[in-house]
Amino acid sequence: MDLLFACKYPFTSEARQAIEENNIEISDFIAEKAVTRVVSALRGESVHANPMHISDQLAEIGSYGAARMMLAFLHNKYLINKFAVAEAKRASSAMGRENAENLRKLQKELGIFPSSFEGKTVVPLPTFLTFSPRAIDYRLINRNVKGGFVEVNSREIIRLMEEAVKTKAEKISPLKDPPESVRKYAAELMKLVPKQVPIPMSFREGDNPPCIEKLLEVAKSHQNLGHQGRWALAVYLINKGMADEKINQVYSNFPDYDERISKYQIKHARDRGYKMPACTMMMSYGLCVADCRVGNPLRWKKR
Ligand code: SF4
Repeated sequence: MDLLFACKYPFTSEARQAIEENNIEISDFIAEKAVTRVVSALRGESVHANPMHISDQLAEIGSYGAARMMLAFLHNKYLINKFAVAEAKRASSAMGRENAENLRKLQKELGIFPSSFEGKTVVPLPTFLTFSPRAIDYRLINRNVKGGFVEVNSREIIRLMEEAVKTKAEKISPLKDPPESVRKYAAELMKLVPKQVPIPMSFREGDNPPCIEKLLEVAKSHQNLGHQGRWALAVYLINKGMADEKINQVYSNFPDYDERISKYQIKHARDRGYKMPACTMMMSYGLCVADCRVGNPLRWKKR
């Protein structure tokens, strides 16, 4: 068994096997590592551990499972989303330096099977649709699609794999009765979690059209939002007179929030004076959720 592989990719069956075969239990050491793992995720850091010693490697693998148990017990959506994003980024950065054999092993684990079609590297369309990030470059209209396959390059394959890891990592079912150590360290973890900044809304019920309410709901429930959704939300809030700082606070609720990028995007949208996309455009982005007959979300009137 390749323990280093399991350390880098603790969500794999190889990692689970390592835990079972070595009877890893959640010691204080492993629980503390698990807390550090989640706290790093909250800070947006993807810590790369490369332990040399077998006991450290097993503790590293165990810390992933222990972190998941704590999150299952707390069942806090914000923590789970942050954790999943950080774990996916951490794995993705290791994948970028991975050898071909390990990459193939991982692809099998994640259900992503690149192949060759007419001399190009491709993935099946359903795989692409399931794991492509919600970014303009990945919209099918911008892709070479043929015979049920989508052409991808090696960087994009890793991006699809990253998304697959995120999906795997965020699947955490509630755990009502965990071992005492998990309960104890989960409580410790909660003390370290920064207080969430409430979304600064001066809106009242019915002030915004359904599409915008939906986007705000995504932020409030700490889910990720694709590029177009973020952009449309920023443009709407700018046009509603909200200050950049407050829009940034709304954005800080997204699990993959990056302060520098977020501030840049908001400033960019304001400096460019982007107009709010019309309802037809919102529909083409998949962001329209009702038939309000207003033509543009900014024309929405409280009903
Ligand atoms: S019709 Fe327009 S305002 Fe209404 S949900 Fe769709 S995009 Fe928003």
